[in-house]
Formats: sequence, C-alpha cells, structure tokens
Amino acid sequence: MIDEHCLSKRVQAVKPSGIRKFFDLAAEKEGVISLGVGEPDFDTPWHIREAAIYSIEQGRTFYTANQGLLELRKEICRYLDRRFSLSYDPYKEVIVTVGGSEAIDITIRAIVDPGDEVIVLSPGYVAYEPSVTMAGAIPVVIELNEENQFKLKREQLKAAISEKTKALLINFPSNPTGGVMTKADYEEIVDVIQDSGIMVISDEIYAELTYGETHCSLANFPQIKDQVILISGFSKAFAMTGWRLGYVCAHPVFIKAMNKIHQYIIMSAPTAAQYGAIEGLRNGLDHVKEMRDSYQTRRNFIVNGFNQIGLKTHMPQGAFYIFPCIKNTGMSSEEFCAALLEDQLVACVPGTAFGQAGEGFIRVSYAYSIDEIKAALIKIKAFLVKLSLCDG
Ligand code: PMP
Repeated sequence: MIDEHCLSKRVQAVKPSGIRKFFDLAAEKEGVISLGVGEPDFDTPWHIREAAIYSIEQGRTFYTANQGLLELRKEICRYLDRRFSLSYDPYKEVIVTVGGSEAIDITIRAIVDPGDEVIVLSPGYVAYEPSVTMAGAIPVVIELNEENQFKLKREQLKAAISEKTKALLINFPSNPTGGVMTKADYEEIVDVIQDSGIMVISDEIYAELTYGETHCSLANFPQIKDQVILISGFSKAFAMTGWRLGYVCAHPVFIKAMNKIHQYIIMSAPTAAQYGAIEGLRNGLDHVKEMRDSYQTRRNFIVNGFNQIGLKTHMPQGAFYIFPCIKNTGMSSEEFCAALLEDQLVACVPGTAFGQAGEGFIRVSYAYSIDEIKAALIKIKAFLVKLSLCDG
C-alpha cells in the first residue's frame, strides 16, 4: 500500500508552506485584493528581456559552465565591489544558481552533517527551517522581537550557540519583517562569530531594497569574511522572479563543494537568464534605483495607513514587507487573516507562517500599486470598524 510510510522521515517532518495554504484559500474566492505575494509588481526591465531574447536568437541555447558563465560571474563581482565594497574572485568564489532558493539548499547541504545545528531566526523566511531539516540537520530557533525592530542581538546569539552549531542563517533586510542590521548592529556580534568559528549563511537577496543606511553585510568585516557565505539573486532587485537566477559568493572551499552538488542536480542555471542578468548588472542599476524609490514611497504610505487605522506597524528599513501587530484584535494571526479574507476579501499572510514568533503579526507586501494598497486599507478599516477597534 502506498502511504506516508513510503516517504523519507525528513520530508515527512516538513510542513507545507503556510503562505501557499493561504493563497489556495484566496484563490477559491473571486475579487480578492491580495497583499500577500512576495514578488515585485514590475515587469523585468525591457533591455534585460531583450538581451535574453537576443541570446536565444544567437543560438546560445546550450548548458553553460556548471558555475555559471564566467562573464556573468565577473559582472557579479564588479557589481558587489561597486555597490557594497565586497571583493570576490569570479573564478573560485562565485557560483550561479537557480534562484536564491537553490543557493540556500546547496549551501546548507554543503556544510552540514546529520545532527549538526543551524541557528535560524524567527520570524524568518519560510524555506530555511525545511531546508535545514531536509539536509538532516537541526534548526535551532532564535525568536526576534518587535521591541528590537526584529534585529539579532548579541545575547540571543551567544545563548543559541552550542558545540553542535555549524552555522547561523540570517536574512537582512528580512522577509517577513523588513528589519535590517546596520553596520553598528553587526559590530555587536562580529566577535561572537569569530570566537565561535561558526559559519554564517547570509541571505542578502533584498540588499538593494534598503531605504535607510547603506546595506552592510557580515562579509564586510575582514576578520570573519571567510566564515560568511553570501547568498543573493536577481528576483527582487531586478524584478526577475520567473527567470530563476541567484548566486553564492564564498571562500573557494565552499564554492567547490556546492559546485559538486549543483553539477549533479542542476548542471547549470538557465542560459538565457544568465545573459539577461549580465545586461542587468551592466546597464540596469538605474532601473533598480527607480524601483527602490517607488517601493520606498509605497512603504511610507502603507505604514502610515496601517498606523492610522489602529494596527501598530513599525517602519521597516528594507525589503517590501510590513509586519503589523494585530494583538489588539484578540485574534490569532491565522484567525485574523482568515476572517479578513472571509469578510472583506483581502489576503495577507499570518505571521505564524514564518515561525511561532510571528504570532500576533501579519505580513503585508507593498509590492502593489498605491491604488491597490488604498483599496485594501479601506477594506481593512471596515473590518476593524466592525470589530469596534476603529472609528468609522
Ligand atoms: N530568500 C528570501 C528571503 C526570499 O524572500 C526569497 C523569495 N521569496 C528567496 C530567498 C528565494 O528567491 P529566488 O529563488 O526567487 O531567488
């Protein structure tokens, strides 16, 4: 008989994504306004699309080097140097992957053995805990809190590190909280990382979407740079989610190991996408800035809007999410999102989809037009008025 016993215990231990569950619910209804999706609403800039189309016209339809086109790796290194003062060797320290998603998977698999611990932050991106579990390692959760603007604090990190800790997995700017770590915030924890010798997997896919101080990476600290595995990609900054392109930069020992996994499971990232990305890095940074400016305008608008209707929302400094507190409604995050969807046809994601520390919060994406955001705010207000939590 075919049943769950046929499956690996590792996969059985993983729950389906709480985001997907909500979208399936929303998809069953008509006329839903969604603030749920974590995806840019911009089309990929035309010159990037054109470069990819041209590459196909030229017959560049073959596998590339496993590590990715050398031309692209060189552009990635130039870009990281120019934008974030990070220096990597395109030959030995970069691998091009199928999105940040593959990057997360092969990074974890390259460094953990069964029983190793990987510290993850909660609320945190939905893929981290399952990726750690599926690699046979044990996720150890640090709960971040709103009072600290969802930053990682020194004492929390120290308390979570054990003899079994292999790595710390972080993501700033953060999905779902929009929280960032500034240079000063990182300065507080650098020596803990150095002294413990743990690796840091740093998912910086939202680095371009930073609205306050310039983005800082733990790889900017020379004393721990070799311990840091930097993950990024083109989905968010260049509005290229469907192209499936990301990359990892790290010490050659890690890249060589990741390339071993990558060459057997993937071969190489999509070729046309790689040509598009080269064009994006060479000539697309003005578009990236335009998109960032637009997100910043929307961020200011939506944060004000939520605070005005009585859902306390801190001003996030990065990504394109806000994380309003809904504790004053007396509902759980899931109850709130389900009732809002049922009553007003507005879809948001319960904070608990990102871990237990998300209880009492919802994740709202502002990668939507101001008109859609306005329409959603009117409906959310109506919902709160019904609950007598907001004046009409
Ligand atoms: N990391 C984070 C924090 C994300 O939010 C996402 C996408 N939602 C990814 C990685 C994966 O992105 P992709 O595979 O499209 O590059």
